[in-house]
Amino acid sequence: MGFSAFNFSPTIMAGVRGQNYTEPTPIQAEAIPPVLEGRDVLGLAQTGTGKTAAFALPILQRLSAGPRGVIRALIVAPTRELAEQIRANFAALGQHTGLRAIAVYGGVSAGAQAHGLKGRAEIVVACPGRLLDHMGQGNFNAKNVEVLVLDEADQMFDMGFLPDVRKILARLPATRQTLLFSATMPDALRGLAHECLRNPVTVQVKHTEAVATVTHALYPVVEHLKTPLLLELIRRAGSESILVFTKTKHRAKRVAEKVKNAGWSATDLQGNLSQNRRKAAMDGFRSGKIHVLVATDIAARGIDVSQITHVINYDITDTPEAYVHRIGRTGRAAKTGDAYTLVTANDEDMIRVIERKLGKTIERRTLENFDYRAGPPNSGQKNPGAHHPAPSHGHAPAHGQPPHGGQRPANAGGGPSSGRPFWRRRRRPR
Ligand code: AMP
Repeated sequence: MGFSAFNFSPTIMAGVRGQNYTEPTPIQAEAIPPVLEGRDVLGLAQTGTGKTAAFALPILQRLSAGPRGVIRALIVAPTRELAEQIRANFAALGQHTGLRAIAVYGGVSAGAQAHGLKGRAEIVVACPGRLLDHMGQGNFNAKNVEVLVLDEADQMFDMGFLPDVRKILARLPATRQTLLFSATMPDALRGLAHECLRNPVTVQVKHTEAVATVTHALYPVVEHLKTPLLLELIRRAGSESILVFTKTKHRAKRVAEKVKNAGWSATDLQGNLSQNRRKAAMDGFRSGKIHVLVATDIAARGIDVSQITHVINYDITDTPEAYVHRIGRTGRAAKTGDAYTLVTANDEDMIRVIERKLGKTIERRTLENFDYRAGPPNSGQKNPGAHHPAPSHGHAPAHGQPPHGGQRPANAGGGPSSGRPFWRRRRRPR
């Protein structure tokens, strides 16, 4: 089935061709027809499935007819990065329609946004807090809004935005089309969906199914060797687009520093950065100037860099859904990717939960010629004799060198580590 089945106008088809989309993704095949019919839709899909175009294309089609210069579609999204990305998707797909999209979020001056909101756009992509500010100041005229999209609704819930979202809903015309997209559907969100959707069509692409083109691997390692192992994985990956996840902002910053010190062009993306620095990080990564981006889950929410070849979880996720979501950043559309997770003995329970969700065992790998016996830095001991035999299966190919003359990881130092490596230990009875 091609895009011609949707009977989009020639200007919209030109936008689709401009993006080199040939086949609709499953979420597009399922969601576009009811959205075109004007139905409310509950879309259960994670990032990486093509969900943005699933709502953007039918919205552009709807808005191609009718008044210009008034706000007719509002998309509410949890993070600035996602808002920018959605805006860019609308701009790219709608480039021949003459329709204009603007993004509205905090951390940057509100003045230019207020200006843009007045008669200069038909599509507004907004984060909840800043949108409410503009609504309060009379900058946002909601009376012509025909379509509302709540995107990544579960993330908005996690970030505590549901009260803001409810206030926004109360200010929009009651007669409108509403689309709600979410990777997961916690109970609190089900309540919101019930309140704001009228007789919705539910479309779902299995959210626990990781993108099929991704190869998963776990790299067991002791905590103090995570950074050297990461550096070695980056070196052997020989890739120019690697996304690394850490569990905290502080760790993202620290790990990015270490990767940079090893000679790679790297930066962190986390919530403590100013909007300008976040944008510079994203732009650098997208353009290929920055090879390694170290991010937290929230800051990286919805990151869409189609050339990402490797996602490396420096820290494992707290939930299997978050794992699938992170991995959705690589192997996008028709491409393939690798998803590596560094795991310590403490992660065993979460690994089992993730494997259960994925319905398969993830391969455990050991890097050949990596010094798993090195002790913590500055411990004053060198290779204290702990024995960490390598599991017999897989290792990453050795190619690629730091582009800027970076060193090999410093595995010096010593310190005892306890006998049998945890991936060889007998599992506790369950
Ligand atoms: P999303 O889930 O909306 O973040 O989209 C993930 C990626 O898939 C983006 O890079 C899109 O440009 C791309 N994409 C969306 N739809 C298609 C399609 N039909 N064919 C190929 N790539 C697509």
